[in-house]
Amino acid sequence: MFKFCSLFSGSSGNALIIWNDQTKILIDAGVSGKRIQAALRSINIDPHTLDAIVVTHEHSDHASCVGVMSRRFNLPVFATRGTWRGMAGWIGGVNEANIRHFNSNEAFMIKNIEIRPFSIPHDAADPVGFSFLYDGRKITVATDIGHMNDRLIENITGSDLLMLESNHDMVMLEEGRYPLVLKKRIKSDYGHLCNDIAGQTIAGLAARGARRFLIGHLSAENNYPELAYETVSRCIAGSGLCVGNGIELYVAGRNEASMVFDI
Ligand SMILES: [Zn+2]
Ligand SMILES: [Zn+2]
Repeated sequence: MFKFCSLFSGSSGNALIIWNDQTKILIDAGVSGKRIQAALRSINIDPHTLDAIVVTHEHSDHASCVGVMSRRFNLPVFATRGTWRGMAGWIGGVNEANIRHFNSNEAFMIKNIEIRPFSIPHDAADPVGFSFLYDGRKITVATDIGHMNDRLIENITGSDLLMLESNHDMVMLEEGRYPLVLKKRIKSDYGHLCNDIAGQTIAGLAARGARRFLIGHLSAENNYPELAYETVSRCIAGSGLCVGNGIELYVAGRNEASMVFDI
């Protein structure tokens, strides 16, 4: 078994979990420890059985409770040096032995799960997405992406499950009430991925054989689950395939756990 669940996903906080019979890894901890623990219990995972936290980048919606979770459950925290520099000053003390580093684009192991981090274009110090490999299966998480590039496509290709950002609807963002500077940041090459680009990316991967997709990190202000789902479905249909007919598409909730994917 190789399982994955999105506990929280969106600009207000992120926490995901991936596990098999020997290893449990929390990916990001951007909501309170209390809420993460409750969400874990809701899918029958005892937080005391976690093995590690891996962190994508230092933005507070991903890192705010990394320190709390590490201290509470004595968990090693794996992050790039850039991410550590960005978060060390405000997440509270982390036991020296629990401070672990990895290099973006260099694979490492946590117990029996191989982790392949890859750089993502986003306005943080050294942000990454992750592919997790176990027993010939690959689960990939890629959110907080300003734009797609060939390297990124290469990394997310061949995933048995891909969680991809589908942050905003371009029209809602442009016509919405966000200040201009924030709109510019989100739309920039180092901001967030819109529904259309997520849809085109997924359609391209589906055309090459990928089957299971979870879209996430939706904006509360400039998107809603039905619209993201519709837009991505339409893109998939545009490439001659059909959601439901061999292609699975799900939307990760902002405040509730997704289904448990058994890959
Ligand atoms: Zn984020
Ligand atoms: Zn971010």
